[in-house]
Amino acid sequence: MDKLRFQSLASGSSGNCYFIGNASYGILIDAGIGVRTIRKCLRNLGIDFENIWGVFVTHDHADHIKSVGVIGEKYNIPIYATRLTHDGIQRSYCVTEKLFGSKKHIAINETIILGDLRITAFPVSHDASDNVGYTVEYKDKRFTFATDLGYVSEEAAEHLKLADYMVFEANYDEYMLDNGTYPIHLKKRIKANTGHLSNDQAGRFLAENYNENLKHVFLCHLSRENNLPEIAFQTIEDHLLAKNVIVGEHLNLVTLSRFTPSELYIFE
Ligand SMILES: [Zn+2]
Ligand SMILES: [Zn+2]
Repeated sequence: MDKLRFQSLASGSSGNCYFIGNASYGILIDAGIGVRTIRKCLRNLGIDFENIWGVFVTHDHADHIKSVGVIGEKYNIPIYATRLTHDGIQRSYCVTEKLFGSKKHIAINETIILGDLRITAFPVSHDASDNVGYTVEYKDKRFTFATDLGYVSEEAAEHLKLADYMVFEANYDEYMLDNGTYPIHLKKRIKANTGHLSNDQAGRFLAENYNENLKHVFLCHLSRENNLPEIAFQTIEDHLLAKNVIVGEHLNLVTLSRFTPSELYIFE
């Protein structure tokens, strides 16, 4: 019952939300989809809102914060974010219910302890008011969430290298983006160091930094227009294979779907 559990509720530019915890309680990383959908998915896991001990926000883009106001104020769930991200949430047009009592500030590298979960924020490079990833430690395991990052900075790399499990961005295929219909300024924004991570960037990082602790990689935030799950999977599998790391044998690789919840992963 107290094994570590993970489920992606949604992943991508239409909304992001991840559950991590055990059979009796847990936290959400981001809440960028509708409250009713979140509640329904959690119920399927046997988790009610009162068993969610916090929402940890990565940054203040709409696809990550849409429901934090309602979850925080209506359901009294603490919403953890850095000061700059909270300021951004208060200003955001897409968060209609503003945060008061449920607002909790976190600082980079500060560890929040909720039951057996220990959650630490680290900085990532992106173009919101402030941008963080999270490492969630549970017993002797580490689960790192790194979404919406233009490149893998030194600080993010330190966290990712130690992870047993990770949610890691593979936003776009470089060829598809270059040859797609997006206007030039948007292509530039996505490719910038404060934009998103490509399949190649993710694959290269994983291949160069693979160690045998790493058991599961969940690829997140795949672009609908500039990526395909098969291409993301194949690109990263190829990078790993070039370093003799075999997907399915050394580690599991999963592409997270934009709208459909992933299966529930229960880790040994
Ligand atoms: Zn996003
Ligand atoms: Zn973003």
